[in-house]
Amino acid sequence: MKVGVVKEVTPGERRVALTPDAVGRLGPGGIEVLVESGAGDGAWFPDSAYAEAGATIVSRDELLTAADAIVTVGKPEGNVLAGLRAGQAVFGMLAPLTDPDLAAGLAARSVTAISLDGLPRTLSRAQQMDALTSQSNVAGYKAVLVAASAFGRFFPLLITAAGTARPAKVLVLGTGVAGLQAIGTARRLGAVVTGYDVRPSSKSEVESLGATFLELKSVTSAAGEGGYARELTEDERRAQQAELSSHIAAHDVVITTAQVPGRRPPLLVTEDTVKAMAAGSVIVDMAASILGGNAAGSVPGEQIVTENGVTMIGAPNLPATVPTAASTAYSRNMTALLLHMTSDGSLAVDPEDEIQAGVVITHDGRVIHPGVAAMTAGSDPEGGARVERPAD
Ligand code: NAD
Repeated sequence: MKVGVVKEVTPGERRVALTPDAVGRLGPGGIEVLVESGAGDGAWFPDSAYAEAGATIVSRDELLTAADAIVTVGKPEGNVLAGLRAGQAVFGMLAPLTDPDLAAGLAARSVTAISLDGLPRTLSRAQQMDALTSQSNVAGYKAVLVAASAFGRFFPLLITAAGTARPAKVLVLGTGVAGLQAIGTARRLGAVVTGYDVRPSSKSEVESLGATFLELKSVTSAAGEGGYARELTEDERRAQQAELSSHIAAHDVVITTAQVPGRRPPLLVTEDTVKAMAAGSVIVDMAASILGGNAAGSVPGEQIVTENGVTMIGAPNLPATVPTAASTAYSRNMTALLLHMTSDGSLAVDPEDEIQAGVVITHDGRVIHPGVAAMTAGSDPEGGARVERPAD
């Protein structure tokens, strides 16, 4: 099987789906690697490193023609999407639950779509393929560095001849993979850290990192299925926002990571709460999106300063800003999945396999993933009616 590594087309995306060391790992599985010239440049993996590892460097057109499977980090776009052909497979983080039209379109063109974000993460044999976790780890780490560099004071307690600086008070909202990594990183920088989540089981994880777990009276548990949070009811949401407000205002730095699968991110920091924060405070909203994030007013990819002097950073794609580490981890995840789905050097799609049941979205001209199929029913793959998102 020939696997083609495309150069990512999304602005600011510096990651690459396979790093040179993957070439040697895939070879014994009967997988040959083609690399679009310059694909690894953004992550500091030059064409020469791929060539030395045994890959073939080609143009995008050559790659799209010759590859049996295309591997990407984000969703295929532009001429990569247009160039996919019937019978070809595409592996990437395709976010089919938030973009079911893409899945419907790929099915209509008989492209097999395999999305790493559908992986059953609690399955131990799937953990080496878990790109959501590997990328969230990178994001949680970088969020703290971004916050620290925007903050006008120190994170650690510093006692000097010129006086004593108190440590920064950091609040992390949402303590899943990214949140726990943010807590660990902020602690290593010397901040006093508090973590909050609607899953009570995260309390012990937060405390094991030397942080304090914030418990609210209004929402004691919103644990959902598969270790994820469930969406809060309207009443719970309002009560949570109100109770969180005074805690948020008492912190210097707030890092928000809260997500509910397939739903719009919950609003945790309201406009009034931002107004109650002191000048010089910093919010890093990792959930920022065009649909809104965890903090009112955050804009994805932008750093803004509110009238009352709060710096708000909308940071939805931090892994792209740590491209070498993020690509290295992603490449390991992708390599494990490619080897899992290959038999005798050919793609072997088996929806009965527990891992494949989660990741294979389209095959043989159909959307076969049940969750995505439910959303694409009634969708027009030619670009007509858009599938409604789940209720907010
Ligand atoms: P995520 O990205 O879906 O969400 C981030 C965090 O936001 C979660 O901890 C969630 O509980 C929290 N959240 C959602 N709504 C909230 C609200 N209204 N207020 C406060 N917090 C809110 O989560 P994730 O990082 O992908 O992790 C989800 C779960 O999966 C965790 O339990 C994690 O331990 C588990 N997990 C397990 C494995 C494994 O078993 N190998 C691997 C990865 C993750």
